[in-house]
Amino acid sequence: MDKRVAFVTGASRGIGRAIALSLANAGYDVVAAARTIEENEEAVAELRAVNPSAMAVNLDVTSPDSIKAAFEKAVKEKSRIDILVNNAGVTRDGLAMRMKPADWDLVLRSNLDGAFLCTQQVLAGMMRKRWGRIVNITSIVGQAGSAGQANYAASKAGLIGLTKSLAQEMASRAITVNAVAPGYIDTDMTRVLSEEVRGKIMAGVPLGRMGTAEDIASAVKFLVSDEASYITGHVLAVNGGMYM
Ligand code: NDP
Repeated sequence: MDKRVAFVTGASRGIGRAIALSLANAGYDVVAAARTIEENEEAVAELRAVNPSAMAVNLDVTSPDSIKAAFEKAVKEKSRIDILVNNAGVTRDGLAMRMKPADWDLVLRSNLDGAFLCTQQVLAGMMRKRWGRIVNITSIVGQAGSAGQANYAASKAGLIGLTKSLAQEMASRAITVNAVAPGYIDTDMTRVLSEEVRGKIMAGVPLGRMGTAEDIASAVKFLVSDEASYITGHVLAVNGGMYM
């Protein structure tokens, strides 16, 4: 059988980069997508060292045209996409009372609309193949809420609803749709938090450490494997016990 093709959004840094690398290491043919990935020589070189056929495509998930172009390019080169990991995401934190409409819109468009529009690009191909894996990277914040993150929490809770609905729509074609909900993971996204805030968050993590991007990549690698073929519509928390 040909190598399965995995398309990972937000693969230039952090969790997405770790997912792309972990899937390449596991033998998948990886398409790494982000706004800046073709220029990110370091990320691309790291992937190609593991798997020379790995491909990088620039993609802005807030732009339907960019989404269409990136998936067309990937399918032209790889002929199909078997696995989609919707990982690209942003935060624009602020209290709801004062939140600017632009910050609400950007977060919803990036995290929720982006995942939906990317998913639409792969469904027909997966249905034809009668096999597929979709993994949406949601967040503990989508499960528990978070003061100062109404936009982000709404986008991530929305992803959980999307996951469960799609899982039901696609199950008869052996396409599974799951979500991974990271807790507090050490990446650029969390490095902007102050020492004080980080300390407070850490105090609420029973396993007593921040998560790593690799912790999330391991969960994704499992969910896209044949071993996980009877799991769909699930939200897998990878959060050190921070929310149960
Ligand atoms: P980073 O900020 O480190 O990386 C975000 C990635 O998304 C980058 O590759 C970025 O690439 C890409 N991205 C951002 N906007 C767009 C866009 N419009 N189009 C395409 N790609 C985009 O974040 P993390 O690695 O920490 O987060 C990855 C995912 O995990 C996100 O969905 C986040 O919400 C989620 N998560 C993270 C947690 C954490 O503690 N870090 C906790 C829970 C969930 P580029 O800028 O090149 O486009």
